[in-house]
Amino acid sequence: MELGGGIANYEVETRGFTAFISESLLQPLVAMPAGMDRGTIVQHLSEMLKCIWEHLLRRIDFARRLTDDPIELSAREEHPVKAIGWAARDQSGVLSPFKFSRRATGINDVTFKVLYCGICHTDLHSIKNDWGMSKYPLVPGHEVVGIVTKVGSKVQKFKVGDKVGVGCMVGACHSCNNCARNLENYCPKMLLTYNSTYYDGTPTYGGYSNIMVANEHFVIRWPDNLPLDVGAPLLCAGITIYSPLKYYGLNKPDMHVGVVGLGGLGHLAVKFAKAFRVKVTVISTSPGKRSEAIEHLGADSFLISTYLDQMQAASNTLDGIIDTVSAVHPLLPLLNLLKCDGKLVLVGAPGKPLELPVFPLLSGRKIVAGSAIGGIKETQEMIDLAARNKITADVEVIPIDYVNRAMERLAKADVKYRFVIDIGKTLKDA
Ligand SMILES: [Zn+2]
Ligand SMILES: [Zn+2]
Repeated sequence: MELGGGIANYEVETRGFTAFISESLLQPLVAMPAGMDRGTIVQHLSEMLKCIWEHLLRRIDFARRLTDDPIELSAREEHPVKAIGWAARDQSGVLSPFKFSRRATGINDVTFKVLYCGICHTDLHSIKNDWGMSKYPLVPGHEVVGIVTKVGSKVQKFKVGDKVGVGCMVGACHSCNNCARNLENYCPKMLLTYNSTYYDGTPTYGGYSNIMVANEHFVIRWPDNLPLDVGAPLLCAGITIYSPLKYYGLNKPDMHVGVVGLGGLGHLAVKFAKAFRVKVTVISTSPGKRSEAIEHLGADSFLISTYLDQMQAASNTLDGIIDTVSAVHPLLPLLNLLKCDGKLVLVGAPGKPLELPVFPLLSGRKIVAGSAIGGIKETQEMIDLAARNKITADVEVIPIDYVNRAMERLAKADVKYRFVIDIGKTLKDA
């Protein structure tokens, strides 16, 4: 059924909707002779319910557009659970305390007290509207961990007191091909933990807040031996590099993998690759990071990408590269490092297109690929593997009122390697 679009069409849409329900669905049902096949009735009823649902969603959207200031409207939408967080109000990106509300614990929901939340580079891009998609007020945070305080009646995986985490997603359609393959991260209807609109029409708010509510499908069980503060960054940074290492077959012990960029993602890429007993070469523009990469993180070798003789000597040695750099950078020197059939996997998101030289791809059947986080099943697998192998992020734990300074430092890559906000101790319930 087509309902058209736009506020001007709303009346027409409503009349059309009512007529459609009445003529196409109800009348055949009423006129249906006794003994009519049950399947047809069920089909009519389910179509009718689908139409009603779609219409309700449109009404929510219509109501939002009635106001010139949708932020004001969303601020008035009160859920029953009072929450406090830190939000950016505009693209200055300055974060400040923000009172809002969370939905009551639904039958499939888990509510938890947030104890720690990692600061991801995406948070910085989002508060400053670098990608032009930010809706304010915006509460960032998608590396959220804490303790369950309430569970819905149908929740099976969790009970009150359990340690849990929520990463980048809080919703997906559960019926598309990607969802069927446990790849909710590639579901066209995937909902982000913050800066998305939830099914009830309200904004999603992230983990720089004292309380989270999420459908249990998107909640990760937290192993007892994995500390919450140093484990939190695994929920985004960890899965972002774990998933491509595995999917592109770079997790086999005889592999030699390059890691470009030694930041929040890169340092975890080295740690996971070493846990897979893969040979690791860190590729960086900073000569000063050599001892850090080799002595502290356990990388096998180190290349400075601007030293042509070093790069030349290492050409044709790598089976794959995880490229974590989110600034515009040349790909040619990296492609030259790959063996035949080598894979260059991009997990950073430069704001502008990169130049892709094709000749080096042809000569050696090389692949340039991408990857974005991972599905919930794989995220759980990654967290469990991290706990078994004692893989944690190197973090600087900060109080919430340091968060604006932390953002300034993150913009200059002045952190080893992830800021984690101590929400539990420093975000006071106002
Ligand atoms: Zn992230
Ligand atoms: Zn889906």
